[in-house]
Amino acid sequence: MFFHIRELEVRPKLFDTTIAPGAIDYQDAKLRQQSPLRAVGEAKLVMGALGEIRVSGHITVTMEADCDRCLEPAPVPIDEEFSLFYRPVTDGFGDEKEIDSGEAEMGFYEDDGVELNDVVREFVLLSMPMQRVCREDCKGICPKCGQNRNLKECGCAQAQNDHRWAALKSLK
Ligand SMILES: [Zn+2]
Ligand SMILES: [Zn+2]
Repeated sequence: MFFHIRELEVRPKLFDTTIAPGAIDYQDAKLRQQSPLRAVGEAKLVMGALGEIRVSGHITVTMEADCDRCLEPAPVPIDEEFSLFYRPVTDGFGDEKEIDSGEAEMGFYEDDGVELNDVVREFVLLSMPMQRVCREDCKGICPKCGQNRNLKECGCAQAQNDHRWAALKSLK
């Protein structure tokens, strides 16, 4: 769904749409859309700001991301309000100095408007946790033998300063 600036000059555009997995390229090989994505909201021009478009609403989806530690896929549910702003890239404000930290969620558009799928992709990427782990205590993969240590302890000497390991050794 494309929000054309000329259309938005007439009236805000409401949307309520479902985007199937695979329709958006998240440009991240470790990230997939697991469920249909529902996006509900509106696109409108920001009053008093030339050509600035605000897209806001609610996004519900379950993403799937490879765990940073064990590389197994883990679900990442998103059920959040969003609000993103877009300025035309040619209006002279496309200068990075213009963006202060309070406007971190400000993007730019090159054509005559904003594509909803691009907005959705941006918001999903912004919502992803910095560290993507399948669970807090994921033990990850053994750097020596490659065993997923959540499934099985591999028995490699992990670290000489692991006290439990040292205690076991002294029993022998
Ligand atoms: Zn993991
Ligand atoms: Zn190992």
